[in-house]
Amino acid sequence: MSDYQHVLLAVDYSEQGVYVAEKARSLANLYQAKLSIIHVLDNIPMPDTNYGTVIPLNQDSSDELLEAEKSRLMQLGDQLAVDLDNRWLLWGVPKQEIIHVAEQQQVDLIVVGSHGRHGLALLLGSTANSVLHYAKCDVMAVRLQD
Ligand code: AMP
Repeated sequence: MSDYQHVLLAVDYSEQGVYVAEKARSLANLYQAKLSIIHVLDNIPMPDTNYGTVIPLNQDSSDELLEAEKSRLMQLGDQLAVDLDNRWLLWGVPKQEIIHVAEQQQVDLIVVGSHGRHGLALLLGSTANSVLHYAKCDVMAVRLQD
């Protein structure tokens, strides 16, 4: 097996994400590979009001959200010593963007967390499942406790 050269960590900031991040960092160290991180923004902030759910259309709130997300990713990037150019923050569907960036950046190993899903949840699919099925490179699914 040839060494991995570029590891991409998919980050969702869940509680167990730290464990997934540590695995990605140690794999990248082991292979002396480049480490990239990606977080995909897939939700629009929709506060509940007396009138129901409102989608805020003012620019300020989406700018604030973006800034907060940027600094969260920057913080993790600093902790994992990821080069500035290798930190990806994108809007879209997580599974699609993860696969897209992996192909674009010639990633040869994607690291995701994986819940032991079954029943309906399995049928509906998950980010980890889709990445496993559609990525053209290797994928490491780090088992998370439910
Ligand atoms: P899921 O199976 O959908 O709960 O997600 C499992 C894993 O997919 C997470 O541990 C992350 O590695 C990755 N993931 C989920 N959502 C995102 C996201 N919005 N951006 C980047 N990676 C994600």
